[in-house]
Amino acid sequence: MEARTPLPYGRQDISEEDIRAVVDVLRGDWLTQGPAVPAFEQALAAICGARHAVAVNSATSALHVACLALGVGPGDIVWTTPNTFVASANCARYCGADVGFVDIDPATMNMSVTDLSARLAAARANGTLPKVLIPVHFAGLPCDMQAIHALAKSYGMRIIEDASHAVGARYRGEPVGSGRYSDITIFSFHPVKIITTGEGGAALTNDDELAARMALLRSHGITRDVAAFRNDYLGPWQYEQHELGFNYRMTDLQAALGFSQLRRLAEFVERRNALAGLYDAALAGLPLQRPQRDAAHLSACHLYVVRLDEPGLHRAVFEQLRADGIHVNLHYMPVHLQPYYRQLGFADGDFLHAERHGACAISLPMYPALTREDIERVAQALARAINLQLPEKEAEDALIS
Ligand SMILES: *Cc1c(COP(=O)(O)O)cnc(C)c1O
Repeated sequence: MEARTPLPYGRQDISEEDIRAVVDVLRGDWLTQGPAVPAFEQALAAICGARHAVAVNSATSALHVACLALGVGPGDIVWTTPNTFVASANCARYCGADVGFVDIDPATMNMSVTDLSARLAAARANGTLPKVLIPVHFAGLPCDMQAIHALAKSYGMRIIEDASHAVGARYRGEPVGSGRYSDITIFSFHPVKIITTGEGGAALTNDDELAARMALLRSHGITRDVAAFRNDYLGPWQYEQHELGFNYRMTDLQAALGFSQLRRLAEFVERRNALAGLYDAALAGLPLQRPQRDAAHLSACHLYVVRLDEPGLHRAVFEQLRADGIHVNLHYMPVHLQPYYRQLGFADGDFLHAERHGACAISLPMYPALTREDIERVAQALARAINLQLPEKEAEDALIS
């Protein structure tokens, strides 16, 4: 068999301009705490139509400071979806809070509004309402934020959008991150995401106090604002620590890369949508479910996730694709079934749609440099892998019956 270039499931797209932007910082005066971070924050906030963007060293850190800024602490409950990366739930645990989950809608793979509504009614009855809800825009497709926001209002919950997959997406004509339907929106700039800073993240908000609180927490809880000082002013060396913060700062190297990448955000999202269209056409007719295309909202198309009609084929198809050099992935193993969360009391059967999803989903390669030929190759390999397995499976079924 011919050896072919491996295809990752996602990867960064770095231009010569991006490289120059980082090198310029290296030649300059500030590697960190210089002007590149606020420049990136302002550009990001402007693109999203938010008042503030607070850049940090990862989306995980952004989720942590967002929870703290909203006052999450021991005794509180935070809900998210099980179909996400563990960080969406871990942020609550960092604050000493309990985690709960809301099942997904199998059509969109996003948080189900029907399940959310039912669980909220039950939680009100037992006095276990969540303080914060963290919906995740899975694969870049915005959640039904209008409905989620309406429920949050009536139950007195705050909302953090985990938009790690969704920078550049639009919901009801507005950019994700505008904050119209939430308190804080989180982005990730890990290299597999839409734009990258190496590692990095940001928290966007329209609330001045939340922004100030998150900015304080990302840098040890220290302020240099004389007007805010609580001790007597002693001299120009003075800074004050007002609470227990962290070093979650983004460097200027990262911010310069982010600023440069941001210029191509719209282009990246357009390219990803075009690739999704090519996949849709190439995969038509295979026994699988393709991602939902939603004319009303623009997905950032972070991932292209298909679901096999026959879960029994999942592992074999997955392994065959990897053997063919196509580095497919699973987004996601349900978070509540991770050993850490099982030990907190979650079990199989708790969130059936997310579990079924985890048992049949495959993320195909998706990144701007992917070509039409690559997509043909993936489609053919996938068809072959399914066909290799189907006859055996049918034979097995025949034996059983
Ligand atoms: C990637 C990701 C994160 C974490 O992002 P980092 O920047 O790597 O910390 C959180 N939530 C979701 C949904 C993600 O995909």
